[in-house]
Amino acid sequence: MNVQDSQLSAFRAEAREWLDKNFPKSLAHRGDEYFDIAPRYPEGEDWAAWRKAMCSKGWGTPTWPTEYGGGGLTRQQTLILRDELEKIGGFIPLTGIAVSMFGPTLLEYGTAEQKQRHIPPICRGETIWCQGYSEPGAGSDLASLKTRAEDIGDNFLVNGQKIWTSGSMHAHWCFCLVRTDTSHKHEGISFLLIDMKSPGVEVRPITLISGKQSFAEVFFTDVKVPKENLVGGLREGWTIAKRLMQFEREGIGARRMTVGELRPLDEVAREYIGTDAEGRIADLDLRARIVRHQMWERAHRLTVARVADEAKTGPSEATSVLKNAASHALQTRGEMLTEIMGFQGIGWDGDDYTQTEKDSMKQMLQNKAHSIYGGTYEVQANIISKRILGMLDHQ
Ligand SMILES: Cc1cc2nc3c(=O)[nH]c(=O)nc-3n(C[C@H](O)[C@H](O)[C@H](O)COP(=O)(O)OP(=O)(O)OC[C@H]3O[C@@H](n4cnc5c(N)ncnc54)[C@H](O)[C@@H]3O)c2cc1C
Repeated sequence: MNVQDSQLSAFRAEAREWLDKNFPKSLAHRGDEYFDIAPRYPEGEDWAAWRKAMCSKGWGTPTWPTEYGGGGLTRQQTLILRDELEKIGGFIPLTGIAVSMFGPTLLEYGTAEQKQRHIPPICRGETIWCQGYSEPGAGSDLASLKTRAEDIGDNFLVNGQKIWTSGSMHAHWCFCLVRTDTSHKHEGISFLLIDMKSPGVEVRPITLISGKQSFAEVFFTDVKVPKENLVGGLREGWTIAKRLMQFEREGIGARRMTVGELRPLDEVAREYIGTDAEGRIADLDLRARIVRHQMWERAHRLTVARVADEAKTGPSEATSVLKNAASHALQTRGEMLTEIMGFQGIGWDGDDYTQTEKDSMKQMLQNKAHSIYGGTYEVQANIISKRILGMLDHQ
């Protein structure tokens, strides 16, 4: 065994021992409950204890520098940590936009002061961030955004509107794309950090058909933002925005597959459809489709792990492939689950359905959004064709 291998096996032993001592067994295989665009952590002593233990160790954000409260782990150590977590049904107890998108971007582009101010509270799971990108007239064509930030000396004066801003009702801060120059489209955009408590910020939640409110419209009226909250240079926002979207797609492309095993479809099918004399799922066509889907899921998981392992400088354009593959896997799984459960799979409320059955219908509908947020399926296909396959762009 060479030096590096022996160091890695020592790390594996250390991680296993530490997890054994600190991971509450009651949370095994419950990482899925953590998944949310905006972190609303489940309540309870074990959840809080697990988050505290992991954050104190820096393993809530394992690859981030220790000077800001991260774990300072290498890619290989992080893979080992995830592997050991998976073995015990564990998971990293920090989630949300701050961890998956904003933090890594600020670490690349922020000043020392900005990092010192914003990264440690994220590592401790204390601050909630929201993403102020989309506007009523700027979705896929994001660079059409109109929210203005005018230079008024020590501050910018921000006026405009954002929409579909996930978790903004709970957010402490918003990273926001603003227009500081109207004479250039992409080059007129800057990246600004806005304290959601600033006078002039108004959040109007959008109510979904389910009655839930997960995103909102955010209005800025004469909001004063200190100049020290500008990330990167003036008019460099588009470059930073694109980098952040790579982190976003990496997170979305990998997330569902890495929060822990979902219940295998063949197991659900055995329960609802029954088995033939040889113990196989009784429906031949369904059996073939389940196998095809499980192969797809497995291939996706392996590809996510390989891309992460190969990425020396963080995420690349390949994240668009992973995002579309994940959308396909999730949406297919949701639809098949509903089909397998039959009438029991279309329950919404009431006592005739189990909680799992009711959740499966809501999850199936929620999965539809997976191919919209973070850039639509078609927008990813455009990126793949232009930037990965090198197909001609005549513009
Ligand atoms: C659950 C959810 C959460 C979200 N959270 C946030 C958030 O926190 N912050 C935020 O800023 N935004 C958020 N969004 C907004 C999201 O980023 C946008 O919805 C998305 O970028 C698409 O923009 P749009 O809705 O304006 O659709 P449009 O851009 O109007 O697109 C409409 C249709 O046209 C297609 N289309 C558009 N342009 C092209 C093209 N060039 N080639 C081929 N097809 C094209 C699209 O694929 C789509 O099917 C969220 C959306 C959802 C659903």
